[in-house]
Amino acid sequence: MSIIDIKVPDIGDFAEVTVIELLVKPGDTIKADQSLITVESDKASMEIPSSHGGVVKELKVKLGDKVSEGTLLLVVEAAGDAAAPISEQKQPVALVVPAQAATQSVAPPAAPPVPNAASFGGTADLDCDLLVLGGGPGGYSAAFRAADLGLKVVVVERYATLGGVCLNVGCIPSKALLHVAAVMDEVAHLGDLGVDFGKPVVNVDKLRGHKEKVIAKLTGGLAAMAKMRKVTIVRGYGAFVGANHVEVEETSGTAQEKTGSKKVIAFKRAIIAAGSQAVRLPFMPNDPRVVDSTGALALKEVPKRMLILGGGIIGLEMGTVYSTLGARLDVVEMLDGLMQGADRDLVKIWQKMNAPRFDNIMLKTKTVAAEATPEGIKVTFAPAEEGVKVPEPQIYDLVLQAVGRTPNGKKIAADKAGVAVTDRGFINVDIQMRTNVPHIFAIGDIVGQPMLAHKAVHEAHVAAEVIAGELQGNKELAAAAFNARVIPSVAYTDPEVAWVGLTEDQAKAQGIKVKKGLFPWNASGRAIANGRDEGVTKLLFDDSPEAHGHGKILGGGMVGTHAGDMIGEVALAIEMGADAIDIGKTIHPHPTLGESIGMAAEVAHGSCTDVPPARK
Ligand code: FAD
Repeated sequence: MSIIDIKVPDIGDFAEVTVIELLVKPGDTIKADQSLITVESDKASMEIPSSHGGVVKELKVKLGDKVSEGTLLLVVEAAGDAAAPISEQKQPVALVVPAQAATQSVAPPAAPPVPNAASFGGTADLDCDLLVLGGGPGGYSAAFRAADLGLKVVVVERYATLGGVCLNVGCIPSKALLHVAAVMDEVAHLGDLGVDFGKPVVNVDKLRGHKEKVIAKLTGGLAAMAKMRKVTIVRGYGAFVGANHVEVEETSGTAQEKTGSKKVIAFKRAIIAAGSQAVRLPFMPNDPRVVDSTGALALKEVPKRMLILGGGIIGLEMGTVYSTLGARLDVVEMLDGLMQGADRDLVKIWQKMNAPRFDNIMLKTKTVAAEATPEGIKVTFAPAEEGVKVPEPQIYDLVLQAVGRTPNGKKIAADKAGVAVTDRGFINVDIQMRTNVPHIFAIGDIVGQPMLAHKAVHEAHVAAEVIAGELQGNKELAAAAFNARVIPSVAYTDPEVAWVGLTEDQAKAQGIKVKKGLFPWNASGRAIANGRDEGVTKLLFDDSPEAHGHGKILGGGMVGTHAGDMIGEVALAIEMGADAIDIGKTIHPHPTLGESIGMAAEVAHGSCTDVPPARK
């Protein structure tokens, strides 16, 4: 018999994590590897395993205690072999990112029913270590990372090109058009500065051609990189037929016609990266004048009057393009403001600059009916709240539905693999991107908000690393986890609006005390020189008593030209736990817009000499 102290093992970067669950009690007989407690940080919760077996004599922690590596958890009495430590310490098991974590990377918490996997008795045409279902930013990034780590990888994609929504009908084509719109707006503005280029002449066909060339260059690059990595691409609709098999109905051509032939692929591990699609309102007529973002990006012609349904980023980006090309805009939004998620003070500046584009900004307003008429699409509105005045039915040449995106979880027969899908079509995952079926992972839009390409890519790398680590016995890779504290958001409008981490509105709502550093761009030499000094950079620092005046940065936001290119620095500062001095004392080049981040930190610290002195 020997008495052994059981301590918290190496738990990576986690320290001072809170005990939220005690899984054993004095008198229990435990085995080596058995989970003892659950701890939770702002990033994740995890179970801490025991290094030895034996009888628990004494518990040394209670609920709510903070523990770190080396903290004594309990004392066990062990006999014989049980006293020997396990040869390889089991890794703490990461559970889920808590709902309040800034990453928001997990799907809504509703636990869907767990289906029983089907058993597949047929033969496979192909086999692989890893099958990736979907070739978007999540899918191809996972496939490439896994191939780089030495796995045999197959990607199933229904379209002719890799890149998914982002490269083909999302991030990239919208930015190709937004760039042209921004240059046109800039050139128009130069008239005020003494340089007149005259009225632009827009050749829509050529502009569309430019956008298509941009897409082709990027998707062509992906195809070449897949080849270099020996990643096999199987073209077609994939659906699970068992826990280790996917059947693909092959497609060809640009319109994804089914060829009639099928292929079965056997896999050891799978990553579901099947993405999302635009929501279509049920009462909208089936008419070419009613489009979603993909239809708007097709840029057939420029309408005179355009209605944007939904005041989110995607709708406002497309609206920016069409209005610069000559359309008059109306926007209808159920909530009380455009661009939800960003702080209202930033959006207010955006809205003031963009007011000339709009005839009507209808807030707290619902669209309740629409009818195709020879004159246009006749749309009827209703108040979303009592007392809100709404216009009479209006006629539009183009209606863009941008009311959100819905995940494709229900379209891949996930139940045949035993993978649970929520009512809304999301797939819940843990911090390693693992579904309820241990060898099947999911990433990207299909696992939840925010539906952004950069989130998908980071999740993809985690899933690929965990899988390679498990298949190759590499403990370090197998322990990979999605630990991002924050995920930045950007509206690539003019001006751009970008934010990351805690917003001021959220801080207020959650009662979090913050110190604000706000730097107005009318004090920035570069912004004034550019003739675009309407912007603002805002940083928020922890001002709780525990921070003792040296609080870490919790969030930041910007409105202004190139805000999206600069927000990454704020994200890095949050990840690194920087405070106002760290950021303010980092020498930013002058004169740049990026300088505004250093100066906002100086404002918070009280050392900025580029703004009037703080009132005493
Ligand atoms: P997707 O890109 O949706 O890829 C999923 C892939 O799976 C698709 O190629 C699909 O064909 C394939 N697939 C689905 N089901 C099957 C099946 N059964 N069999 C075979 N293949 C299948 N995000 C940003 O970060 N920045 C932006 O600026 C930005 N702009 C956007 C602009 C627009 C107009 C839109 C619509 C989206 C934008 N997004 C942006 C969002 C971004 O495109 C998505 O978050 C991203 O593409 C998600 O990647 P994913 O890999 O999860 O899924």
